[in-house]
Amino acid sequence: MIQLTSATAIESAITKARTVKPRVRVNCFGRYTVTNKQTGATYSVECLKQDGKRFASCTCRAGELGRACYHLAAAVAAHIQLASERAASH
Ligand SMILES: [Zn+2]
Repeated sequence: MIQLTSATAIESAITKARTVKPRVRVNCFGRYTVTNKQTGATYSVECLKQDGKRFASCTCRAGELGRACYHLAAAVAAHIQLASERAASH
């Protein structure tokens, strides 16, 4: 589980996500399945908010070590979009 302090903290992961372009499937709000289209590898990413702080975790090896991987970055991008759509519909 890593804390998302700012976009710059996961910037390199975001850059990699833009290159790899993994597929992000929304399971429910805050839970995503990220698939590497080249290798078919699938990881689960969870985004949550606690005490006003945002956290995210990924089931890949880098994610388990607390590093911001591109799966996490891709899911966080989808999560932010989903959250803003939800906010706009209320
Ligand atoms: Zn990952």
